[in-house]
Formats: sequence, C-alpha cells, structure tokens
Amino acid sequence: MTAEITEQREMTDEELHELAAKQVALGELRGAPAADPVNVPMIRHWLDAMGDANPAYLDQGVAPPAMAQVWNMPGVRPAAKDRSPVDDLLAALNANGYTGVVATNCEQTYHRYARLGEVLTPGTRFTDLAGPKRTALGVGYFATWTVTWYSEDEPVAEMLFRVLKFRPVTRPVKEERAAYPLQPAVNQDTAFFWDGVRAGELRIQTCADCGELRHPPGPMCPQCRSANRTHVVASGEGTLYSYVVHHHPPVPGRVTPFVVAVVELPEGVRMVGNVVDCPIEEVGVGMPLRVTYRPMDDRLVLPMWTPREP
Ligand SMILES: [Zn+2]
Repeated sequence: MTAEITEQREMTDEELHELAAKQVALGELRGAPAADPVNVPMIRHWLDAMGDANPAYLDQGVAPPAMAQVWNMPGVRPAAKDRSPVDDLLAALNANGYTGVVATNCEQTYHRYARLGEVLTPGTRFTDLAGPKRTALGVGYFATWTVTWYSEDEPVAEMLFRVLKFRPVTRPVKEERAAYPLQPAVNQDTAFFWDGVRAGELRIQTCADCGELRHPPGPMCPQCRSANRTHVVASGEGTLYSYVVHHHPPVPGRVTPFVVAVVELPEGVRMVGNVVDCPIEEVGVGMPLRVTYRPMDDRLVLPMWTPREP
C-alpha cells in the first residue's frame, strides 16, 4: 500500500535536542535589514493604536522603545531571507506534533532610542530547548531565543523570547466536564471582574478618587495615580470596534475558526472577547453586541458577545 500524503519522519527527543544544539552553535545570525527606516508614519499609527498621546517621541524624532519588534516584522508572506535559526527548530517541533504554541516569556532591554531614518537589522540567536515537559496544556518543549536589533553595529534593543510548543490534548466529550484548559489568571486586581462574571455582571474598574474607568483592571489610576479602586456594572451592551478571525494555531478547548473582538462599551472602555452565535461572515465592525455568559467548565464562566438589535 502506498500513502499519498507526504509524511515527515518523527524525530526522537534526542534528535530534537541535537538539532537545537546545532542551532545554538550557529550563534547569532543577522537577518535582512528592515524594509523601511524608522519613520514618522509607522510611529504615528503605533501611538494611535496604543492610545499613547505623548508628543515627546515625534517631537524628538525617536521611536517608542516598545516598537523595537515592529521595524523588522517579516510581513504576511515572509521571504526566505527572513528565516532565522529559530525557524528550523519550530518547523521540526510542528512536524513532530508539537503544533500548539503559547508565548511564556518576553523580556525586552532597551539600550537607547531608535532615531528617525535609522535602518534596524535583527540578529537572532537560538539559545535553549528544554523538554519534553508535561504542562497543563499538554506535553511540550520550551524554546528560547534572543533577538538584538542593531543600527549599523550598535545594539539598540534586545529581546528574550520563550514559547511553549505543545501537543494539544484532544479530549473526547465526556459527561463530566473537564476543566477548561485556558484558565484566566485571577489576582487581587482582577478578582472583582471574575466574581462579577459568575454573578452575571460585567464589571468595570473605576478609580475611587477621580472616577476614571479602566479596563483591563490594574493597581493604579493612570489619571490621578490613586490606588483606591472600586467598580461599576456595565449595561452589557457594546459595539464591535475591531476583530480578527482565529484559524490557526489550534487552541486547547476551542473549535476554530473563532472571532476575537475588541468591543467598545458605551461606558467608555474596550474589552477583548469572543463573538458567538453569529456566522463569521456576518461579523463586522460596528455591529451592535450584547454580553452573554458562557460556562466553560464546572467553575469558569467567560463573558462573550452575541449580536443584538440596534
Ligand atoms: Zn483616579
């Protein structure tokens, strides 16, 4: 019998580690220079998207340091020249069934501001492969690499990035509900929100001193720096501000494709959530939405959004 599908040979754990050691030995590999120099339009759009009104960057002709990764993004159809020592390893992990991916660490170091007109070039170094390890998401490998962005030969910024590449666990539907694999991180800043969701309330954090609303919740008011906080209960209505359709990679506990939306609330904040009960082709920016509460397992309830009549 012959199989029509091309099958890539499974690599053993030792072979994956050998490949990782080979990638580490390559050291830092310079990628292609940025397609565009550090420029005003990209900075302006980024500041706009982040809601950062600080005029200092454009006044001084420098880019916000957190834009470090922006200049060398490979684009929708990466060219062969954009390949880094990380790609072969991630491809091998994918071919061995470790198709799930979740970023676990991102540490950025800024050496100085990138100035208008500078062309940045990334240098990528694969540093470590750890695993296989058993995690809540499934068995997987932690892959770590660093990227340094250079102007000529001067480092401007660097980043350590670590992902968990895991074999997604596909469980058959059981009568007893398994715990939803992606549990929210509940802490002292966010507990009120999740308590609200369980009680059928969509709560927005507010500053107890100046009344400023903020979401996602945080420890301090960005307006008046007060640490006193309380919350209001939102009407539950919203408008779709922006969205993406998630097709890949697989997400544990979810059926793809699904819609991840930014929902604008009439109260004045935006929330990220899923649009449900609506064919994906009918989802559109500006559509009126109403919150709905979906039990994901025996304990977790997630707020999601369904279409409503305007
Ligand atoms: Zn305040």
